[in-house]
Amino acid sequence: MTTSSDKGFLLILSAPSGAGKSTLARFLKERQSGLLTSVSTTTRAPRPGEREGEAYFFVDLDTFRRQQEEGAFLESAEVFGNCYGTSRAFVEAALGRGLVVTLDIDWQGARQVRGNLGAEDVVSVFIMPPTCDHLSDRLRSRGQDSPEVIARRMSAAAAEVSHWDEYDYVVINDDLERAGAELVAIVSAERLKRSRIESRLRGILETFGL
Ligand code: 5GP
Repeated sequence: MTTSSDKGFLLILSAPSGAGKSTLARFLKERQSGLLTSVSTTTRAPRPGEREGEAYFFVDLDTFRRQQEEGAFLESAEVFGNCYGTSRAFVEAALGRGLVVTLDIDWQGARQVRGNLGAEDVVSVFIMPPTCDHLSDRLRSRGQDSPEVIARRMSAAAAEVSHWDEYDYVVINDDLERAGAELVAIVSAERLKRSRIESRLRGILETFGL
């Protein structure tokens, strides 16, 4: 794991399913160093191609509840009938190394993280699809979920979108290159916040006798 002298932060990415969040997260990761994606724990069954420890840590409900009781999660939520949680230990270790930790979590988790950590440590971005129709088209063409699951995801989409105004930034994903560039700009600017580069500044200020 790399280490930075700058102060890290949590980058929350939320979006309704099918808004292109994973593609945008990948776009960002290819263009920014020092980024680490938090791997959540879930009770959802793996989709074809999803491997343990990559997309998620897959556990049964009893294990999830036990970990939850032990305080292992920084936040947890039930989404589409499955439980999801963010590892507190993973996030704290990565922040301690000055990394930017991306969290792919829903609005409920975003709320908890904002409540559990200081505002200074959290930057939140909502990925907005250009229209509702775009979303249903993308979900169908993805071919990962059954028609019933897609119908449930579409009805949940409006609920997720209704929380757009709780986020620091909203990126409209009507064009991957443009939306991706906007996400990169957000992260670049957030990294340059005075409070996050103080240890680098200290060295410079010393040369001025300050
Ligand atoms: P999926 O099952 O399609 O991978 O994810 C479904 C939803 O669960 C997405 O909106 C995703 O952001 C959310 N999600 C994934 N991991 C977590 C987590 O650790 N916490 C919370 N609150 N939501 C999560």
